[in-house]
Amino acid sequence: MDGLALQTTETSSTPRGWHYLQLPGPTNIPARILNAMNRPAIDQRGKAFAELSLGIFEDLKSVFKTEQEIFIFPSSGTGAGEAAIANTLSPGDKVMVFDSGQFSFFWIEMIKKFGLEPVIMETDWCRAPAPEDIQERLEADTNHDIKAVFVVHNETSTGTTARIPEIRKAMDAAKHPALFFVDTISSLGSMDFQFDNWGVDVAIAGSQKGLMLPPGMSFNVVSEKAREASRSATLPRFYWDWEWMRSMNSDGFFPYTPAIQMLYGLREALDMLAEETLPKTFHRHARLGEATRAAVKAWGLDLVCDEPSEYSNSVTAVHVPDGVNADALRTHIQETYNVGLGGGLARFAGRTFRIGHMGDVNDVMIMGVLTAIEAALVSLSIPHNPGGAAAAAEHLRLTA
Ligand code: PLP
Repeated sequence: MDGLALQTTETSSTPRGWHYLQLPGPTNIPARILNAMNRPAIDQRGKAFAELSLGIFEDLKSVFKTEQEIFIFPSSGTGAGEAAIANTLSPGDKVMVFDSGQFSFFWIEMIKKFGLEPVIMETDWCRAPAPEDIQERLEADTNHDIKAVFVVHNETSTGTTARIPEIRKAMDAAKHPALFFVDTISSLGSMDFQFDNWGVDVAIAGSQKGLMLPPGMSFNVVSEKAREASRSATLPRFYWDWEWMRSMNSDGFFPYTPAIQMLYGLREALDMLAEETLPKTFHRHARLGEATRAAVKAWGLDLVCDEPSEYSNSVTAVHVPDGVNADALRTHIQETYNVGLGGGLARFAGRTFRIGHMGDVNDVMIMGVLTAIEAALVSLSIPHNPGGAAAAAEHLRLTA
């Protein structure tokens, strides 16, 4: 025993080693991407820049699984949502939106601010929007007043993933012509997303999650149908104008100053995803998600998501037992172990914590995070069963 005794009573207050940024975005940025961005600016009207951006436009297609056009904006993901709306809709249009989590709710607010009329569908925030409810509501809209259905693929506040292909089928079964907008901000690059096969009209994405980049870049993918809608839509648009973008993008340029270093980073991220291959990237995320859920279940804590077929592979939201402050738990984990977790949002504030497992994360990183959480549960005397971290490690071992 003597050999194991601490030689000193001093503890270090200076964090060493990695900061484990296990938020559900922004995520840990790999050194390869940081290094790729560490370059001077180049002429954004020059040949080298055009080559860089044309290559990126081409290679992004495989990430979105599309042959359609893609626009890149120097903004966070919210900007791409605003672009989707401003380009395709007109004042007073009805838009089906979902009160099914904080980020879904966020689009309701945006729809209202634009002077559009939200058609709000609710869940208890433990489930994703149900395809059958969508079908029923669209069938009732016999005049086709609803111009768009706006679904969040992966609800980052609840760790719940919507079944996008089934929602598409429901829209088709209702024979409804509404545009289909999908927010892929916390799914792209972590979970399968198939823009063309799934019949999506506008995808909304951001850089700071599965793409492993810093925040500050967003994307729209636009179907022919959405492009057609944009010709007659009358909401004002300038910065977000797809036509303006298109007129410059075809030669590899942008209508305003592009985020040059972010594009260097994106080039590297696309190369990294291609090297790993998307199927393997999704498989890695699935294993990390399963391992995390195995830990939570072994602890006897509740997942926010109620439905196994909707479990998210990029983020797990966990309820703490009644009477426990989830933020105090997170603060303890941050201060003691230098691990950053996401907090509960809106109705789950203080009752939930969120473990991000998206982007540049491997088995040992998630084991470290789960071990830190388990140690904190013990230290703070939060009721739980032991063995969560071990259950996760075992799952990873068995599926390696
Ligand atoms: N939608 C989802 C699903 C998100 O997770 C987020 C941010 O986390 C947003 C929208 C807002 O995106 P941003 O913060 O990049 O503007």
